[in-house]
Amino acid sequence: MMNIPQRIGQMKEIASDLWFTWQRETEKLCAMLDRQLWTETNHNPTKFMRRLYPQRWEKAALNPEFLNLYHRLLEKYAQYQKEKTWYQQNYPESNLLIAYFSAELGLHESLPVYGGGLGILAGDHLKSCGDLGIPLVGVSILYKNSYFKQKINRDGWQEAAYPMLKPEEIPVTPCLGLDGTYLIIPVEIGEKTVYTKIWLQKIGRIKLYLLDTDIPSNNPEERKITGQLYGGDEKTRIAQEIVLGIGGVKALRALGLKPSVWHINEGHAAFLVIERLRELTNQSLSWSRVVQEIKSRTVFTTHTPVPAGHDIFPPELVLDYLSQIIRQLPLTPEEFLALGRGEGHGFNMTKLAFSHSAYVNGVSRLHARVSKKIFSPMYPHLTEEKIPISSVTNGVHLATWTAPEINDLFCKYLGEDWIKRQTDPRLWKKIHLIPDRELWETHQVLKKKMINFVRANVYRYLKRNLEPAFLIREILKKLKPEVFTIGFARRFATYKRADLILKDWERLDKLLNHPERPVNIIFAGKAHPADRPGQEIIKRISDLAKEERFRGRVVFVEDYDIHVARYLLSGTDLWLNTPRRPLEASGTSGQKAAVNGVLNCSIPDGWWPEATNGKNGFTIGKEEEFPNESIHDEKNHQSLFHLLEEKIVPCYYHQTNGLPKKWISHMKESLATIPWYFNSERMVQEYFEKFYLPAGNRAHINKDGSF
Ligand SMILES: *Cc1c(COP(=O)(O)O)cnc(C)c1O
Repeated sequence: MMNIPQRIGQMKEIASDLWFTWQRETEKLCAMLDRQLWTETNHNPTKFMRRLYPQRWEKAALNPEFLNLYHRLLEKYAQYQKEKTWYQQNYPESNLLIAYFSAELGLHESLPVYGGGLGILAGDHLKSCGDLGIPLVGVSILYKNSYFKQKINRDGWQEAAYPMLKPEEIPVTPCLGLDGTYLIIPVEIGEKTVYTKIWLQKIGRIKLYLLDTDIPSNNPEERKITGQLYGGDEKTRIAQEIVLGIGGVKALRALGLKPSVWHINEGHAAFLVIERLRELTNQSLSWSRVVQEIKSRTVFTTHTPVPAGHDIFPPELVLDYLSQIIRQLPLTPEEFLALGRGEGHGFNMTKLAFSHSAYVNGVSRLHARVSKKIFSPMYPHLTEEKIPISSVTNGVHLATWTAPEINDLFCKYLGEDWIKRQTDPRLWKKIHLIPDRELWETHQVLKKKMINFVRANVYRYLKRNLEPAFLIREILKKLKPEVFTIGFARRFATYKRADLILKDWERLDKLLNHPERPVNIIFAGKAHPADRPGQEIIKRISDLAKEERFRGRVVFVEDYDIHVARYLLSGTDLWLNTPRRPLEASGTSGQKAAVNGVLNCSIPDGWWPEATNGKNGFTIGKEEEFPNESIHDEKNHQSLFHLLEEKIVPCYYHQTNGLPKKWISHMKESLATIPWYFNSERMVQEYFEKFYLPAGNRAHINKDGSF
């Protein structure tokens, strides 16, 4: 990095710790230095600081406003590091170490190595563990080719581009071995050895270790193993998962770490079990004892009932790619394959994880019930209720997801320390102290910001696609803060049914173009590059958005990511969620909407049945089952439109003195009843008390020097 004046020299330190991602001051400081560069670098302080002109630094070092803010940030940082944590206060005696393995992580827009909710949830898990002082280290992959950026082309199709992440431009540092050179871990894949470099990323109190095969000692094929998230073919995927699971355990050992609890976040990371089995194999224990030992310290969280979300590899591929490892286990190839044998022929990573974890959970109560059903064929001797799957319902990192304007409101009415007391339901009753007008005006500020953001996004790609000026003008003209605005942004997996609301064009036209009560719908989301049906939905929405009657009423925002999410989740009026029940394991975006005063309108799937009380949002249909998909979609469509036409839109537009009193009362009810529970602090406390603590203690008792 360049020379930063000494007075503000600690900017470097701040930029190197992802703690900055949930501090508003970082953004303000960088924008004061150079707003345009801050945008151009995708809010990446490391990259930003490398590119900033030295004169800007000099100027800032003399600017009292800058210095003020800078010192406030430093003070907060120092405070964060020295405060006594929840863990220290409640568990002063315990000395656990939890290792958390996840194939994707969504921490910030400048690190685009997440595909959707799973990754963001993992990111929020790490952030909250750090906030509470839970002793946990993360293990994942440094995907230098990242997850793709989305562009919408002139024909309305999604195109994928893979930006290169350069380690020197992101907040990572290479881990060093005892001899002071880079730590490199050998991982056996097939008959070869692949070498893996380890990077450290700091997230407040949490250390995250990232594996990377893109180093000169590997051949070009091997270097690509850790290239793209969810890229490549089956062979790349299994190699990636071997690097993550097996390489990850080896990396922690090389760093001298001895986790007492191992958390597998989704089946992709399940090979960690194999490496731990191998570690214990040499220790003259019976095989069943070895398995029992591994199990007692392992936690597995399953995240989806959708089959495509579960990795199943061909048995031949598994035997080939794990050949060296299998030879070191006291198992025949057949016995090895049995570790991952599910219903079908393949090697099922979920099964591997499931059968080696004493603690298994789904991510909402409903999802745990559904998972029991899915796993029941593996347990022919157990009734469904007896299958050992519990639930920890997902939550979100409130400091990351609460808009600054809403945070100000909370500071004023809930108290400056609201974030520290976030899991206390009594605190949130104070929401009712916020004057209606103040809440409404805050929402309007956020809505305007969102609309400006959407207009700029849409303008940019329509212009790039050489769309005629009149079309662009007509679209932008209709995007106004006075119009009731629905948001729908998530991965375009078909079960999420982005197009449910678009089923009947005539009825849609009437709803959106109502003379007194117009409605806009803003969509955003990526479809996996191999998911053709998902891409077709995007194409249909992009086409619809150009139809005369729907211009500006149906809008698609390009390149959904954490940054886009923050605008839509705080500036729309209604957050729509229409998955085909019960396929949405939890869903978390609606929780982010709720903390910003955006009301949910959801199918009773995932987290929503646990949250709704009839007044804090809207529920589409009932908790029911249908004979087939088309009847299911038809019924849900009817319920959705009935709700919008009869209840939601009239409620929003029923205003006295410019205030929709009834709507605001729903907003307050939502704020008072949802965020206190659906936050990741409550979530990780639950993980800690239900799983980490018992698993860790059992490990303790068993500690007889042999392992
Ligand atoms: C929260 C979030 C998700 C997950 O949303 P769901 O409602 O669970 O589908 C996906 N992508 C981004 C960028 C998010 O912020």
